[in-house]
Amino acid sequence: MRKLSEDEKYMRQAIRLAKKAEENGDVPIGCIIVYEGKVIGRGYNKRNKDKSTLAHAELLAMKKAGKIIGDWRLEGCKMYVTLEPCQMCAGAIVQARIPEVVIGCMNSKAGCAGSIINLLEMPQFNHQVKVTRGVCEEECSNMLSSFFAKLREKKKAEKTCLT
Ligand SMILES: [Zn+2]
Repeated sequence: MRKLSEDEKYMRQAIRLAKKAEENGDVPIGCIIVYEGKVIGRGYNKRNKDKSTLAHAELLAMKKAGKIIGDWRLEGCKMYVTLEPCQMCAGAIVQARIPEVVIGCMNSKAGCAGSIINLLEMPQFNHQVKVTRGVCEEECSNMLSSFFAKLREKKKAEKTCLT
């Protein structure tokens, strides 16, 4: 078997976290932040669980990383996220000056790292992020499509029970 690259190794960890979100009925999205070879922030989507639009995987991981580093600036950190960040998270990534983000799969409907807009690489901002896309892409995108397929089936079953 082929040896996993470092990016794939960390993306796998983010995928494992994403699956925890699914256990709570949240869309499976996971995020890891690495600093000097150590994972210092972990997060998975808790939007439904916490009833908060702020509970995205990236923001939760950034909060933890900031505590460990002792700074809101996450300079020297590398973020791994299973799905392309939204406008809120992409904005926070630029604000925190994270130098590098690795993305699993893209989100054509809401992604703000190249799909709808590319907030991470805008020359007009005071910070640009180095972006790598498509690491463990198939795994990340299959995880989402199977989640939504199950959701549709569940809704269909509920409807049938009512009639
Ligand atoms: Zn987000």
